[in-house]
Amino acid sequence: MTHIVIIGGGIAGLSAAAHLARIADVTLVEAEPHLGYHASGRSAAAFIGDYGNAPTCALNAASLDHLRDIPELMKRRVMMMVGRAGEETELIKEASGLGMWRVGLEEAQSHFPILNPNVLSSAALRDDAYDIDTGLLMDHFRTRAKAGTATIITKAPVTALAQHGSGWQVSAGAQVYTCDLVVNAAGAWADHIAALAGVPSIGLQPFRRSMARIALPSQLDCSDWALIDGVGERFYAKPDAGALLVSPADEDPVQAQDAWAEDEVLARGLAAYEEMVTEPVTRMLSNWAGLRSFVSDRTLVIGPEPDCPSFFWLAGQGGYGFQTSFGAARLLRDRVTGTTPELSSDAVAALSPDRFR
Ligand SMILES: Cc1cc2nc3c(=O)[nH]c(=O)nc-3n(C[C@H](O)[C@H](O)[C@H](O)COP(=O)(O)OP(=O)(O)OC[C@H]3O[C@@H](n4cnc5c(N)ncnc54)[C@H](O)[C@@H]3O)c2cc1C
Repeated sequence: MTHIVIIGGGIAGLSAAAHLARIADVTLVEAEPHLGYHASGRSAAAFIGDYGNAPTCALNAASLDHLRDIPELMKRRVMMMVGRAGEETELIKEASGLGMWRVGLEEAQSHFPILNPNVLSSAALRDDAYDIDTGLLMDHFRTRAKAGTATIITKAPVTALAQHGSGWQVSAGAQVYTCDLVVNAAGAWADHIAALAGVPSIGLQPFRRSMARIALPSQLDCSDWALIDGVGERFYAKPDAGALLVSPADEDPVQAQDAWAEDEVLARGLAAYEEMVTEPVTRMLSNWAGLRSFVSDRTLVIGPEPDCPSFFWLAGQGGYGFQTSFGAARLLRDRVTGTTPELSSDAVAALSPDRFR
């Protein structure tokens, strides 16, 4: 049986393991003590069908039915863009790109009752976004992977990759694994893994995105409120287990690292949110930041390295790693097995690492 080593225990690596473990002998190695420690443990957990460029949306579409098939995984949520005076034109443009339609201010307030009527001047929404239970999705893929052939090893940072015949020797933690194929699902570190393997870079850039979790007055039940998004992504806010997540939607380029949120960045996002609502922010319950890693065209990178066919990329998930997870992992599996993918050939080409070479 083909032996595949998957590097990275986030949503990318786990979804790959789940899809490959029935057809190959899979070992997944993760540097950290637990799975999902980096970007995958820090997301906003949303599914928005039209979020991302055309190949990304093709992966969203290819994932949705599979996500909906997992009991309790998806909770439908309205997504609404909210504008201030003078932002109408921009709102119409941005909202139509996200598949939203204009609604009146009263309807907008019914979906987010603390919107400030003195500030809100335009709104648009779509009613088919979802919350994804990301912990449940990671568990789903981990269970499927382990029900197949997969062995999952944490505290096993990959420190060297050496070509060995047509395959690889992967040094991870105290072990050296000999395998036929490597899948690079190392998130923000994917180019570092490529460098270890002597494979050219794809120009991956991690961008930090921060999140504050704030308390609402106890008499307010926000569980069915909309996800709201300021025009120009000045902030977004989303209900989260009785509290609200508020993000400044920052996108600061940084090195691959264990990211944290800076006070002034959080303050900017909270101020933008607070301007739109009638309830002041009184208490921040927690905050964090994670890395959204993109290549220059902001499209995921899925497939074999052209001059090194035993090295597969599953990288560049940016802000879409959960919502694209099924489609991306299925495409990876098809590229590994040489099966014709269900995605259009244009989408497969747009996602392929061939585009960088
Ligand atoms: C604030 C925020 C909000 C987001 N909101 C959404 C959202 O609403 N919807 C959505 O779909 N996506 C969202 N995302 C994006 C999503 O979280 C990411 O696209 C996704 O988690 C990336 O998954 P990954 O497995 O590629 O990376 P990661 O989760 O970072 O996993 C990569 C793993 O590789 C490991 N690794 C690195 N180097 C090595 C090595 N040498 N050896 C072994 N292991 C190694 C790392 O330790 C890490 O665990 C958001 C991201 C952020 C930060």
